[in-house]
Amino acid sequence: MTALDSRAIGGIAALLLYCRAGFENECAKEVAQCMSSQETPGYIRSKPQAGYVEWVFHERVDSAQIDGQVRFRDFIFARQLIRASSWVDGLPAGDRISVLLPVIASVGIKFSTVLLETADTNEAKELSTFCRQFAKPLEQSLRAAGLIEASDATLPRLHLFFTGSARVCIGWSDPADSSPWPMGIPRLTMPRQAPSRSTLKLAEALQWFIGDYEDRNLLHEGNTAVDLGAAPGGWTWQLVRRGLHVTAVDNGPISADLLATGNVDHLRVDGFRYRPRHPVDWMVCDMVEQPIRIATLIADWLAQRHCTHSIFNLKLPMKKRYDEVIRCRDAMQQRWSEKRMRCELRFKHLYHDREEITGYVVRADRSR
Ligand code: SAM
Repeated sequence: MTALDSRAIGGIAALLLYCRAGFENECAKEVAQCMSSQETPGYIRSKPQAGYVEWVFHERVDSAQIDGQVRFRDFIFARQLIRASSWVDGLPAGDRISVLLPVIASVGIKFSTVLLETADTNEAKELSTFCRQFAKPLEQSLRAAGLIEASDATLPRLHLFFTGSARVCIGWSDPADSSPWPMGIPRLTMPRQAPSRSTLKLAEALQWFIGDYEDRNLLHEGNTAVDLGAAPGGWTWQLVRRGLHVTAVDNGPISADLLATGNVDHLRVDGFRYRPRHPVDWMVCDMVEQPIRIATLIADWLAQRHCTHSIFNLKLPMKKRYDEVIRCRDAMQQRWSEKRMRCELRFKHLYHDREEITGYVVRADRSR
């Protein structure tokens, strides 16, 4: 769509989903699967290594037609979900704002904030300086035009997704069903005392799956945890920092500083065979193994009531990554349904995950 013909809009032209570059196929399969049960036909538009995928509706749809059916929190491979209104091409370098303002106004809603974003690729990173410089004047103009009401955080967030300094997709996200982080990427700083960078995976998983409030409620002094494949201790460090007592299972060495806290028991045993004598609150697992073996192990811990919560990684070095995730998910749910047990299971391809995804499960009946 050109700057000219993008004026008469309203409704949504496409869903725009950000993902890790190289995972466009998985993201596309997922959105296609989700949309296959909707009465809003469309098609996938994606490019390898682009870092985003689009579901383009054959006809523009009203947001209400997909609300509740397309839920960001259910997507595994998408980092962000944008309701895209239009693409604008050929933005004039000297005066982008006067082209953009009417297009943004024609979306027909007010926004709490504006985010200027790009794909998370090396190519797109070259645009980040431009985005930073353009953000302020654009925001000022949007405020002056009454399109931004910063005091109301429940309003949609306006996203301008640039693929070049002259080409942008205009869309919005629902704050109740989207990533709160710009580009869907949490900015976590590496804690200096943590023994490995892996620590950031668990930190992000806790933010994503349970959030700050539940973090304080569910992970505190008096809780117990088992960390399978714990060495050198990045995940254990996150748990100990929150006051938990951790049994760290690994043949490899655990950081001496962690052991010195007195809150870690190190067991050099096989993580697949180990089971705790008494149930624990949390079991986390970062062992590098076939995903179905890990999925079966986690399902067993829950089924046998060895833990109430688990966070685990599924490494996905294979080609059919999406199919493998579905196979693991189905195997876990099958195990629990045989036990007549209800568990909430979610997966996310986190920013700190590379060729892997992170799973979170909690037993619906949390009594031991
Ligand atoms: N989460 C750790 C951290 O934050 O430092 C990093 C874990 S590293 C990716 C995987 C670990 O799993 C290795 O230390 C390896 O020794 C351990 N591992 C692999 N197979 C195992 C098994 N069968 N039993 C116990 N540990 C195992």
